[in-house]
Amino acid sequence: MALETFEQLIGGKWGGAADGGWLESVDPCAGQPWCRVPHGKVEDAVRAVDAASVAFKDGPWPRMTATARGALLRRVGDLIEQEADRLAEIETRDNGKLLSEMSAQVRYTAQWYYYYGGLADKIEGAVLPSDKPDMVNFTRLEPIGPVVAITAWNSPLLLAAYKVAPALAAGNTVVIKPSEHASASTLAFARLFEEAGMPPGVVNVVTGYGAEVGAALTKDPRIAKVTFTGGENIGREIAMEAGRNLRSTVLELGGKSPNIVFEDADMESAVNGAISGIFAASGQTCVAGSRLLLQSSIHDEFMDRLLAATKDIRVGNPLEAETNVGPIATRAQYERVLGYLDIAKQEGAECVRGGARADVAAHPDGWFVEPTIFTGVTNDMRIAREEVFGPVLSVLKFDDEEDAIAIANDSSLGLAAGVWTRDLTRAMTMTQRLQAGTVWVNTYRAVSFLSPFGGYKDSGIGRENGMDAIKQFLQVKSVWISTGGAVANPFVIR
Ligand code: NDP
Repeated sequence: MALETFEQLIGGKWGGAADGGWLESVDPCAGQPWCRVPHGKVEDAVRAVDAASVAFKDGPWPRMTATARGALLRRVGDLIEQEADRLAEIETRDNGKLLSEMSAQVRYTAQWYYYYGGLADKIEGAVLPSDKPDMVNFTRLEPIGPVVAITAWNSPLLLAAYKVAPALAAGNTVVIKPSEHASASTLAFARLFEEAGMPPGVVNVVTGYGAEVGAALTKDPRIAKVTFTGGENIGREIAMEAGRNLRSTVLELGGKSPNIVFEDADMESAVNGAISGIFAASGQTCVAGSRLLLQSSIHDEFMDRLLAATKDIRVGNPLEAETNVGPIATRAQYERVLGYLDIAKQEGAECVRGGARADVAAHPDGWFVEPTIFTGVTNDMRIAREEVFGPVLSVLKFDDEEDAIAIANDSSLGLAAGVWTRDLTRAMTMTQRLQAGTVWVNTYRAVSFLSPFGGYKDSGIGRENGMDAIKQFLQVKSVWISTGGAVANPFVIR
């Protein structure tokens, strides 16, 4: 059967890669290619930056009123609903996440375009107090220029919205580079920008390998900023390359988040929070609660409940409504996750649930891993320190608040943390002392366009979402105006 084809958008024109190459995208459930996308190379990256630069320098977008720009962004939000079912299915085919989850997520993505569309004409400079009697000083917040947005495969459209919506609202142009493993939804989504009436070159999407096209985009000196979600190693590379051009970055690099349950917690809620923290999206989320910290006094009771609640998890086709856990998105990632199962066993952790590849009869070539739980984990084990990015939970014990904080913070990463307690004072102490960009109390995984999101420590640089995110895409100009009449000759001493 012919593969569905998705084209790139560069400078308002749709097409394949300059050299005519294509990449096949593999459906992780079937383990077979299901569509093809352009195999862009350096030349395509250069063309995309050309288009974004021309659109920024000479096009109508940055000169349009912010109100008109905002209206266009809100129109993109409106168009999402019409296409949501198709876009969600494309994402599921590409990355294997549950259709039910992708459907809700794609619909929620519209909120980013509404929110930043609304914010576009509320960006205000300030008239500043002046220490010079005959001068007025005020600031203007101006767009920075073409922005590169590089996204990961786990939530391509949502991650793109985190970046593109504020960058565009600020008046910039963008080049989006989705992951080679899940590019199709971003290419399909790009049609909405066009349909909404965005001028050519304002939004460009180029696909291909990160090491080729992604690296070329990052290195291009015409790019004002790179905003990125992905792994720590590539994040470091991007920051170094951008730094060489004296350009800044926004980096969202994942975590090893502690989900901490105290003895006074509502057990049922905490069990549900632990499960959704690690097994949602097959654990392939940056905020996965992959380290479950249990107070020693409730460890055994909690584990009994957790094992009972995870007994019947259905692993299978993510397009089917009854599936709870889908496949791993890529073969490399699947092998990596299986590798961590071996590492954990070798390190002495006890596997009490799962621990192997999952057999799904209808999809023998799919990349399925059993939802897995290890107990007896200590914080020095690799399984507790490294991001697995799969359905693998490490359970650790702690004695008291101090112990919990010490274990939780003993990590190079600091994206998120969960705390389960009924004690308000304890909750407040924990929220203050945990080194993480997001702390949830008696809940897990809440994320919103309204709330800043990003990491402490090696989990990243900068914040996405909320009011401040737009400032990442603006630069401040200080304007001085003399109100004092003629300027004296500087070489005549008075
Ligand atoms: P990567 O960091 O490898 O890739 C993320 C994005 O960067 C992709 O679009 C990728 O393109 C691109 N890229 C790769 N190399 C370069 C480069 N040299 N210059 C510019 N862009 C580049 O993440 P993966 O998706 O492969 O996942 C690896 C690990 O990252 C996971 O195991 C997980 O730990 C973490 N991760 C974290 C996420 C998060 O939400 N924070 C999301 C996904 C992964 P391409 O895919 O085409 O190579």
